[in-house]
Amino acid sequence: MAILVTGGAGYIGSHTVLALLERGDDVIVLDNLSNASRESLSRVEKLAGKSAVFCEGDILDRACLRDIFASHNITAVIHFAGLKAVGESTRKPLEYYENNVSGTVVLLEEMRSAGIYQFIFSSSATVYGANAPVPYVETTPIGGTTSPYGTSKLMVEQILQDYAKADCNFRAIALRYFNPVGAHESGEIGEDPNGIPNNLLPYIAQVAIGRLEKLGIFGDDYDTPDGTGVRDYIHVVDLAEGHLKALDHLTAIDGYKAFNLGAGKGYSVLEMVKAFEHASGRKVPYQISPRRDGDLAAFWADAALADQELNWRVTRGIDAMMRDTWNWQSKNPQGYK
Ligand code: NAD
Ligand code: UDP
Repeated sequence: MAILVTGGAGYIGSHTVLALLERGDDVIVLDNLSNASRESLSRVEKLAGKSAVFCEGDILDRACLRDIFASHNITAVIHFAGLKAVGESTRKPLEYYENNVSGTVVLLEEMRSAGIYQFIFSSSATVYGANAPVPYVETTPIGGTTSPYGTSKLMVEQILQDYAKADCNFRAIALRYFNPVGAHESGEIGEDPNGIPNNLLPYIAQVAIGRLEKLGIFGDDYDTPDGTGVRDYIHVVDLAEGHLKALDHLTAIDGYKAFNLGAGKGYSVLEMVKAFEHASGRKVPYQISPRRDGDLAAFWADAALADQELNWRVTRGIDAMMRDTWNWQSKNPQGYK
């Protein structure tokens, strides 16, 4: 029995592949390496002392999927593969819908042909849209997304729900991630964004290591305690462990279910800067810049459902997030290159 992990060479995928290998699962990784390198998996294999099967290929390639399903005894799929940059998605909507929505449909069709019905999907807190009350609870209606990226996640959740209604064999869990940060404590694997980072923590880490001059803080006039944006940051190893719990829970759900994976607590941009400086001993120069289009002031998860049903909760706090980010960045100043 094996698990197929699409996008398993990427940031969250690589940490999840490591957790799966460590607990003894057989793992097949399918990744087109559009936003990752083979090096992440080499390091995962070294850490685990065990190999995953790597297939370089695309989720839109039916022949490749058929070949994988025919060659391995796969029981479940964890689906990370997709494009994830919110800003880019507004400039390239078709690419986002093709990869994230069509790609998922192709994958589900080929799974069905192969008789595989267990599915874990990487969704996002962005599906709650701009007007949901905070904290976000799974019972809040989703929608009102503000980017093609967010809408692509919303559409896939709807597809999973409809498919589960139509076919009682199919079981899917959508995991709505809040803000994944950090790295494996070894410092061997971590987040390695292409070009200038869009996200806060990789940006801070690259300022601290000297690759970028200073952080721009997008607005200090929000209705939050210090005026800067508040988010629910979650350590990537906690997030990876959430996937294992969800996988084990698939047989217990009725068709389709969504869970928030977050800490249930928010930190402001300034609090993040201060915590990073404390962990790294480095100064992070910053300037206050205009608000970023589409940013919300503050949101965080109600994380109770995952706690109750999946028996999952975060165990790593802000100090571990910062320590592990800095450990990864300082050991790998240029990422995997
Ligand atoms: P990532 O870019 O590091 O990983 C995605 C992986 O998928 C990459 O290795 C990429 O090469 C691969 N890929 C992309 N398109 C593919 C395709 N068509 N066929 C095969 N492989 C393909 O991103 P990540 O941060 O690890 O995110 C993983 C998933 O989690 C994504 O679906 C993302 O939308 C979702 N997510 C991420 C965040 C976040 O902040 N990182 C938050 C919420 C949800
Ligand atoms: N942020 C910032 N400067 C940056 C990147 C992000 O001030 O260079 C802020 C952003 O406005 C938000 C928080 O940091 O309040 C988290 O942003 P990120 O892009 O990491 O996550 P998301 O906006 O997707 O929740």
